Amino acid sequence: MYPRIMIDLKKIEENTKKISSKCHANGIKVAGVTKVFCADSPIVDAYIKGGVDYLADSRVQNLKRLQNKGLPVYMLRLPMPSEASEVVEFSDISLNSEIETIRLLNLSAKEQNKTHGIILMIDLGDLREGIFNEEELFETVSKILKLKHIELAGIGTNLTCYGGVIPTGENFGKLIDYKNIIEKQYGINLSLISGGNSSSLYLLDDNKMPYGINMLRVGEAFVLGRETTYGNAIEGTYDDAFILEVEIIEVKAKPSLPIGKIGMDAFGNKPVFQDKGIMTRGICGIGRQDIEPDGLICCDERIAVVGASSDHLIVDLTNCQQAYKPGDFLRFKLTYGGLLKAFTSEYVSKLYLSDD
Ligand SMILES: *Cc1c(COP(=O)(O)O)cnc(C)c1O
Repeated sequence: MYPRIMIDLKKIEENTKKISSKCHANGIKVAGVTKVFCADSPIVDAYIKGGVDYLADSRVQNLKRLQNKGLPVYMLRLPMPSEASEVVEFSDISLNSEIETIRLLNLSAKEQNKTHGIILMIDLGDLREGIFNEEELFETVSKILKLKHIELAGIGTNLTCYGGVIPTGENFGKLIDYKNIIEKQYGINLSLISGGNSSSLYLLDDNKMPYGINMLRVGEAFVLGRETTYGNAIEGTYDDAFILEVEIIEVKAKPSLPIGKIGMDAFGNKPVFQDKGIMTRGICGIGRQDIEPDGLICCDERIAVVGASSDHLIVDLTNCQQAYKPGDFLRFKLTYGGLLKAFTSEYVSKLYLSDD
């Protein structure tokens, strides 16, 4: 069935092994983030073979798939108050910033006869989740310490997600300062200092990871072999563990400019076109319901993506020597956004490749 994603489990395992062992050598534990592939079980197993210490996802439906894998499970997105009970049921530790939600987790944990761990998130300037105000931070800590079924497992931060703020010795240094102040002021031990995502990995190469950061949450680097601060490939990893294969349904020579008065496209935008004369245009059986055209990187570099509507992807085949025809296939590498969307679409099937 096409379109399909071909998934090389061995490459994912090797990426994971390469990056995890570097983290371990620096005293850092790794949570393998599974959301980009919807916690798909064979890929989760590849992470585990690659040596991750924990599994982490942002959605309750995915957390359910991470049960019984033998590793602690983390809930990454701040829990919705309405899902507190399921978060306690399906994760061991969740990332939090709202005391009222933490109180609901405490109640659910009491009901389920459990202790639920939390990592208190601090916003160091990226302006997505986390407590920004210092006074609120300390107040929240004191309130958490009164809850019997909650364990304050640590503090964490998230960078380079919304604001694109780069992790540095300086902003991570601030996280470590908070750890020291909290431990001293409340006489407790914070065992996890969770310093962000794939964008923090470059600090390991530059020997700039501040001492004290002892956990990272990594997704993109494992699946695409890329650190996400500068978008560089990570040496010795694969960027083609996932390949999207699509089938051509039409090939015709047509002008590059539509003919007639231009109104709105299928998505309500007024399109702008560049006149390149007559082109060889191919149409593939995939569309915006399954991918973002910007998230596709064609393996045949002579082919350019022209655009897409809900069910059709248009490509420019003008520069190809080979005469593509309907029934032929095109292969694409994917960006993070491209992979996320293709994996979430139920119209894209999966084929697993592995040596064994
Ligand atoms: C998605 C997510 C990550 C993983 O980010 P990558 O860039 O894929 O490594 C880490 N932490 C949180 C809170 C996330 O939501």
